[in-house]
Amino acid sequence: MSTLITNIGELVTNAAPDDDPGQGPGPFAALTGAALIIDEGRVAWTGPAGQAPAADEAVDCRGGAVLPGFVDSHAHLVFAGERSAEFAARMAGTPYQAGGIRSTVAATRAAPDEVLRANLARLTREMLAQGTTTLECKSGYGLTVPDEARAVALAAEVTPEVTFLGAHVVPPEYEGDRAGYLDLVCGPMLTACAPHARWVDVFCERGAFDADEAAAVLAAGHAAGLLTRIHANQLGPGPGVQVAVTAGAASADHCTYLSDADVDALASSGPPSSGTVATLLPGVEFSTRQPYPDARRLLAAGVTVALATDCNPGSCFTSSMPLCVALAVREMRMTTQEAVWSATAGGARALRRSDVGHLSLGARADLMLLDGPSHTYLAYRPAVPLIRAVWQGGQMSRP
Ligand SMILES: [Zn+2]
Repeated sequence: MSTLITNIGELVTNAAPDDDPGQGPGPFAALTGAALIIDEGRVAWTGPAGQAPAADEAVDCRGGAVLPGFVDSHAHLVFAGERSAEFAARMAGTPYQAGGIRSTVAATRAAPDEVLRANLARLTREMLAQGTTTLECKSGYGLTVPDEARAVALAAEVTPEVTFLGAHVVPPEYEGDRAGYLDLVCGPMLTACAPHARWVDVFCERGAFDADEAAAVLAAGHAAGLLTRIHANQLGPGPGVQVAVTAGAASADHCTYLSDADVDALASSGPPSSGTVATLLPGVEFSTRQPYPDARRLLAAGVTVALATDCNPGSCFTSSMPLCVALAVREMRMTTQEAVWSATAGGARALRRSDVGHLSLGARADLMLLDGPSHTYLAYRPAVPLIRAVWQGGQMSRP
């Protein structure tokens, strides 16, 4: 069954170099007056609408823009409870501290599977309705062997991009025994979680884990067959980015406080397919009233930049990639093209995925149709429901 998607005002392709989809996305690229054919869940043809070959069925976009689906490469969706009172207090002047995570840990441990599964389903539906077709999902609110194993197993029901984040914070019962908790994370907890996970992550921050601890967690995860990523340099300057680059991590996430050496390390970490991406999470700065990361400095240095939501009940409870694009453009001075590229192709790079984030021939047919003629509308019309349709592996849904 093939589908012709035609009368596209602007088709953002991020086409791969030489149209070789195995290389993953290329730079921002777009066609006007275009059409696209989906066949067997893949992009089978793109080009001028007037030259499109026949297909079994057709969708008329009436001049709307079509983009690759968003790749949200950073989210914490397995949790129970909510922290709106903490948000209200923060807006009234109480600063954010990493310790607030512990209240979500208590609620998550106490929740039955069905509650966690229902919350996860609600959030992933919410994301799809906003154009997110690939999402990463972390554990990290269980912090016991059975609770973390449950979290990664539940996450694996909704995405292949599952991340083991046992090293989120030291739980209260290990308050006086950090080494004991790290042994648990790198030993039995990792063994229980690795079969359901693709990634290992660690919160490298004052109040969470230091450089040596973070490096040990990533090394143990790597030895267990997991790929590595890290929460780095969110609340202040720190060693996280250097730990990430040294470990060959796919992504250093947050990157709000960077030294020149950190920027250099990211820029020289390797080619886009194997280097360390800087994943910026502007929803966090919006929701914690912290300074935004300096995207222009990273882009000027040649660092690959991704945008993601960090959807979580504490520091940033948005699931909206369009909001992140709008913030990146308005507050971080990214161009609309840079922001859309980072939210699609950049996210794919951060997840080491070559099949998503672009619409080259052979790429997964993950795309969205906007109620607007160009990608710019995502920033030009902030907080407006612009997503008219989403295709995931060629399957269309309408929000
Ligand atoms: Zn996070």
